[in-house]
Amino acid sequence: MPSIDSNHLKRMLELQKTYVGTCYSMLGLHPCYVRDNYRDELQLMKNALEKDQFFAIGEIGLDYYWDRSYDDQQMICFLEQIDMAVTHNLPIVIHSRSSMDACIEVLRAKKESGVRGIFHCFSGSLQNAKDIIDCGFVLGIGGVVTYKNSGLAAVVADVPLEHIVLETDAPYLTPVPFRGKRNESSYLKYIVAKIAEVKNISEDEVAAVTTANANRIFGY
Ligand SMILES: [Zn+2]
Repeated sequence: MPSIDSNHLKRMLELQKTYVGTCYSMLGLHPCYVRDNYRDELQLMKNALEKDQFFAIGEIGLDYYWDRSYDDQQMICFLEQIDMAVTHNLPIVIHSRSSMDACIEVLRAKKESGVRGIFHCFSGSLQNAKDIIDCGFVLGIGGVVTYKNSGLAAVVADVPLEHIVLETDAPYLTPVPFRGKRNESSYLKYIVAKIAEVKNISEDEVAAVTTANANRIFGY
């Protein structure tokens, strides 16, 4: 369960407690929620990290799509939260929109720290994929791979399965044939089917390898 800001922490932790072994919380200040109060937010995150159980730092990153007025603050938050993840030995989950080059630059700069995790909702080029993998990250692939015009299926075909995890981004990015409707976890099977098709391997193999990748990243 991705975190966006401190307002949702309590409800996420309640869900995690109610559905032990099914719901796992991340902690993070999402770039779209970086505002003037970001210092307070980061402090609340740090406090929560000492107190409650989290499985990753995320979503963190850079979003240059909606609003450019907090670019500098977004970068500060991204870098500080990467440091938090390294300190606590947690993976990070990166949100990147209209910011591919800037995010890859950050990952390169932080590579020596050993930071690891998932580049969520990846939809870049094969070169972007290679650069991200080279920094020790895997690609989060969701419904977009089923969209004809995205070009993502062709990229995924050339990325070894060991560097891919599956995701929903629910309620968004619903795969074909339910595109436009509310997304849900059960629709992951359409993403599995698409990846199996473009890689010409079995759906079982896609499921097994991507599950093993997720388990490795989150340390189960
Ligand atoms: Zn996101």
